[in-house]
Amino acid sequence: MLADLARQLEKLDADGLTRRPPTLQAPCGPVATIDGRTLISFASNDYLGLANDPAVIDAAIDGARHWGVGAGASALVSGHFAPHAELERRLAEFVGYPRALFFSTGYLANIGIVPTLVGRGDAVFADRLNHASLIDAVQLSRADSHRYPHGDLAALERLLVSRPARRRLILTDAVFSMDGDVAPLPELLDLAERYDAWLVIDDAHGFGVLGHQGRGSLDHCCLKKSPRIVYMGTLGKAAGVSGAFVAAEATVIDWLLQRARSHIFTTASPPLLANALLAALDLIAEGESRRMHLAGLRAQLRSGLADTRWRLLPSPTAIQPVLVGDNHEVVAVAAALAERGLWVPAIRPPTVPAGQARLRVSLSAAHATAHVSQLVDALRALD
Ligand code: PMP
Repeated sequence: MLADLARQLEKLDADGLTRRPPTLQAPCGPVATIDGRTLISFASNDYLGLANDPAVIDAAIDGARHWGVGAGASALVSGHFAPHAELERRLAEFVGYPRALFFSTGYLANIGIVPTLVGRGDAVFADRLNHASLIDAVQLSRADSHRYPHGDLAALERLLVSRPARRRLILTDAVFSMDGDVAPLPELLDLAERYDAWLVIDDAHGFGVLGHQGRGSLDHCCLKKSPRIVYMGTLGKAAGVSGAFVAAEATVIDWLLQRARSHIFTTASPPLLANALLAALDLIAEGESRRMHLAGLRAQLRSGLADTRWRLLPSPTAIQPVLVGDNHEVVAVAAALAERGLWVPAIRPPTVPAGQARLRVSLSAAHATAHVSQLVDALRALD
């Protein structure tokens, strides 16, 4: 087995697919320190710059002093504390659904939601570019899986017409994590209503960034409220901490609480993090100036590269991918940027389809315009 694994690792290397995560020697922020070198970082999803915000840090410290550092058990046994309950109440109210359930991560939330709602004999209809956690969730559920081409509503409708099942779920990222585009949520809800399906929306990259007060993609798309919607938002990106929540009808949330294995069979997230998240939620709601600054950085990057060979995907969000295509070339461009003091991750298959390797520029309100200018200048020099 060892020889076999070594051979597979060599093949990954030959295909330009080996990943070696760097070890950071300074906190998450617009500037990263790696091996004693400082690099301007476009790598993190800390879109509002809250991971290092003094108010969030203070809330985490207060939380640790009051609640200790561990939850001690799973939420259902003895791990559900007052900050968890308060956070769930506030998150549900913020996104406008009756109840919410807090999970330790977005991955755990997704693999909890899908198998709890559907199983053998049911059907899931999923956008081809959905996040890996949703793909894994469908496999775990054992429901029949039907994937439609990215954003192709006509193809989805054909599937909904031709694949009857006991229960049916449409599953989509709200903001696609490697493309940055927003799913056609009103149209998806319309199809869900017409063909008696439910709509599960993963808003990992929209929550905190899009919509009035950062309420997320549902608000951004003016999506009407519907009992068919199950909304998932993550709290390790724009909220700057970690965790995730599911918001939906009270009956759905109660069912998840009873049945979601990734909630039941895992130690609860430390209550100090829920304390930090309560502070982060205040900053998200008051964060209009951060979101305006982020929009300005996006415009600066896009106009700075408009007349170059670099092809930016049409993304209205903080995720600004630069399509390169070839795996080896994207690694070479990322290395050339690193030599110029810039850290932009090279994203390759299987994270994106073959032939669509890209630089994933992730902007944050913590960036200064000078950081984006440096990136524009470096890419122009490599043009
Ligand atoms: N959904 C999407 C669309 C994501 O991009 C991610 C994280 N990359 C997740 C879910 C998982 O969230 P978490 O990192 O909190 O596990």
